[in-house]
Amino acid sequence: QAKNHGRNRVQVYSDQLESPTADKLVLENDLYKALERDELRLHFQPQFDCASGQIIGAEALLRWEHDGKLVPPMDFIPFAEETGLIVPMGEWVLRESCRKAQAWHLRTGWPLRIAVNLSAVQLEHTDIANTVARVLTETGLPPTMLELEITETVVVRESLRAADILTQLRSLGVSIAIDDFGVGYSSFGYLRELPVDRFKLDRSFLMAVPQSEGDCRLAAALIAMAHRLNVGIVAEGVENEEQLAFLKDHGCDEAQGYHLGRPMKEDAFEAMLVEHSRLHAGALKPITRMVNHA
Ligand code: C2E
Ligand code: MG
Ligand code: MG
Ligand code: MG
Repeated sequence: QAKNHGRNRVQVYSDQLESPTADKLVLENDLYKALERDELRLHFQPQFDCASGQIIGAEALLRWEHDGKLVPPMDFIPFAEETGLIVPMGEWVLRESCRKAQAWHLRTGWPLRIAVNLSAVQLEHTDIANTVARVLTETGLPPTMLELEITETVVVRESLRAADILTQLRSLGVSIAIDDFGVGYSSFGYLRELPVDRFKLDRSFLMAVPQSEGDCRLAAALIAMAHRLNVGIVAEGVENEEQLAFLKDHGCDEAQGYHLGRPMKEDAFEAMLVEHSRLHAGALKPITRMVNHA
């Protein structure tokens, strides 16, 4: 009888092991050790100035190398946020990104702006301005070469405190980009109050450009709105030449996407930057910060 029970239980258990839920548990358990095991990796995706075609920045994108596979952020960041693991991980991302950017700057002389994604948890539960200041000092990266990306939904949800934190961050000299811009459409009021340098137009707005007339008008209107607010705009998810032509025609400042450059390992990114800076050395543009209402 007891044996039967046992066998049944084993059966149930092994069924669960094959389900995604059990895989997820294994992943979550291993995530606690990812940092100490040195399993976090950064990929870098170039951002281009639309008018000149020059590389203007790079977004650092987190990966987790687990059992020889690269786990995408969407498969572990939500759990890292629930458990607070995102705090040490996010600080690792920030430090590594600044360290790399500073090394690349010294090697190439190219004024690359490094963009780092911040989680809502880092904004709400840590003294992020203090962390950023410390990391900048440690790595020697000039503050103007760091951009922090914060998703629009976070900024809208926490509007009052967010304005405060963004002001602190900006006073360090770093710039702020609103990520996934346009998705958290619930409030336009925040746009006139927040000290931000750039909007990152969510890629959903570009997906049907130029085929859909309505989407073209909307994308053009969002670009124009950014400019009326004296905020820069970078389009995400540029996947083909037609979209890039559309963005240039409508005066979009910057573009990022598979068509221009995929996220790549640091060695590949560095090689590309070395080549790019050699080719464009004469036409170098300094980093400019947008001057917003603040
Ligand atoms: P995000 O910040 O909006 O990053 C853009 C995502 O779009 C990246 O996905 C990038 O690989 C992908 N992408 C870039 N160009 C194209 C394109 O042309 N077409 C398509 N379909 N996709 C494109 P990824 O690397 O999987 O990152 C997903 C999200 O995970 C990021 O969205 C960001 O919210 C989050 N994330 C990544 N790294 C970090 C990090 O270090 N910290 C935090 N808190 N979040 C991160
Ligand atoms: Mg981002
Ligand atoms: Mg984005
Ligand atoms: Mg996004």
